[in-house]
Amino acid sequence: MKTARRTHGFTESVIRAMTRVAAQHDAINLAQGFPDFAANSQVKEAAIAAVRRDVNQYAITWGAKKLRDAICARYRFAYGMEIDPEREVTVTCGSTEAMIATMLALVDPGDEVIVFEPFYENYGPDAILSGAVPRFVTLREPDWSFDPDELEAAFTPKTRAIIINTPNNPTGKVFSRDELTHVARLCQKWGVIAVTDEIYEYILYDGAEHVPLASLDGMAERTVTINSISKTYSVTGWRVGWALGPAELTSAIRKVHDFLTVGAAAPLQEAAAEALGLPDSYYETLARDYQNRRDALIPSLRAAGFRCFVPRGAYYIMTDISTFGFPDDVAFARNLIEAIGVAAVPGSSFYQRSRGEGRPPARSSGEPGRSPGGEGRQKLRFAFCKKIETLDAAAQRLLRLSKPGARR
Ligand code: GLN
Repeated sequence: MKTARRTHGFTESVIRAMTRVAAQHDAINLAQGFPDFAANSQVKEAAIAAVRRDVNQYAITWGAKKLRDAICARYRFAYGMEIDPEREVTVTCGSTEAMIATMLALVDPGDEVIVFEPFYENYGPDAILSGAVPRFVTLREPDWSFDPDELEAAFTPKTRAIIINTPNNPTGKVFSRDELTHVARLCQKWGVIAVTDEIYEYILYDGAEHVPLASLDGMAERTVTINSISKTYSVTGWRVGWALGPAELTSAIRKVHDFLTVGAAAPLQEAAAEALGLPDSYYETLARDYQNRRDALIPSLRAAGFRCFVPRGAYYIMTDISTFGFPDDVAFARNLIEAIGVAAVPGSSFYQRSRGEGRPPARSSGEPGRSPGGEGRQKLRFAFCKKIETLDAAAQRLLRLSKPGARR
């Protein structure tokens, strides 16, 4: 049967497919980034109470007032940013919807959108669905810095937007104030909108500082800030996120959002408002616990033979697998699941496919297809948003890799 051409250029998410493959093989899932530990009980109680109070009907399409007010209060408190809850906030079904609604609202087919590579997998299909032509700027290992001249050269009269993700998935890079200032200067020079995904804003290590791009001089009027409660409050399945932007952009985003989903779950919006009011100690504990998890997993990965790029934020470790002698990341990831029972994400999911190759078709079994090429073929991403026990169990399994005979 015929399906729409717009769906042909991308496959299902490799990240989410890895979760299914992990479950089939009873592997420890260090692939998809969701916590396996409990969420804050006050936040859970707020959700239960909202259902009991019969907050069961649609919220206002762009978000319950209580939540919009709580979002604005949080940004004012954390960064001194002034956001108008009536005209500059759209509550969405997770940041995934915030991003696609923003792209559909702001980008015309043929417009160019700058994306740093490696990039979070969703941005590829987001570009295809909105008809954007992506232009990639390389983040260079080991510190994932970019060449300012390369960035400058990516801006053209056709550039409509640039997507920034800081703290960054998959690299763990935290963009510095200087780097963001350079981005800001170019956005202003070329009249470009910045779309910034800041979902890991509170997950920072080793003293790293998060700078919201919209807080830089002259950027509030040309930035859409995307975020959600998923990662900060460990509730990825609740699907409550938001897009913040100047009124003119927000009114376009709200229109797209309204007809895509109408709105995020009303009782969970009530609980999200409660979450945003948690005290500073919550965020301090969150970051410290993640740093402990990071520091627990890295030595095991190194002992097993992975070269680790130590993240400064977010909850992933990008690794280099070249010592293992596998032809590509997808074969290696499959072997890791089948031979030792640990799932991770093939690095190629975070890079554009080699020119002219397109993305591989999904297999009917739901397994990710073989990577046809691209820069990520010797990389693998591990998520460490897991209980220490889970990470210890994974470490035991990873040790088997360093035993003779485990390598090719
Ligand atoms: N952000 C998570 C990851 O990179 C997953 C998000 C999702 O699957 N929606 O693994």
